[in-house]
Amino acid sequence: MYRQGALPKGACPRCFAPLNAIALGAFQAQGCRICGGIFADNALSSRITSILDRTIVADAFSHAARKAAQPLDLHGPKLSCPECSLAMLPNYVQAANARVDACAEHGTFFDAHELEAVSRAYRRRREAGVPQAPRTTPSLQRTIESSEAGPVEVGIWQLLASLLK
Ligand SMILES: [Zn+2]
Ligand SMILES: [Zn+2]
Repeated sequence: MYRQGALPKGACPRCFAPLNAIALGAFQAQGCRICGGIFADNALSSRITSILDRTIVADAFSHAARKAAQPLDLHGPKLSCPECSLAMLPNYVQAANARVDACAEHGTFFDAHELEAVSRAYRRRREAGVPQAPRTTPSLQRTIESSEAGPVEVGIWQLLASLLK
């Protein structure tokens, strides 16, 4: 499959749909409404990675996650950077037992399932009664529910945005 170099600028590295500029709290990123992935620049990527670490380690979710996880494919096909089309390098996020793909120059692509790990960790915390869950305002909630494009992913982005504040 001829992929590298054929990827149009601004296309999702995972599913090739056009990425859209999205706001995550005070940050800007590029999000894919088809697969729910997010391409974040280097400054934002390190914050997202630290949220993955903090949330999942604090929740002790990582044990279960690692046991249930599919074997990590660190040597699978490389994704292409949406900015420069060069192959991105896999980075290992230990807490999330996840592989993310990074272009040293432009940023990191986070798959939706990596972001979902954060979401699951928060749900478990809520169920355990830990009063740490971010609050969603009623109007925001309506926006999420009435959104036609990828309601699940948009919910994850919303959670991420609230964690980035
Ligand atoms: Zn996508
Ligand atoms: Zn790049």
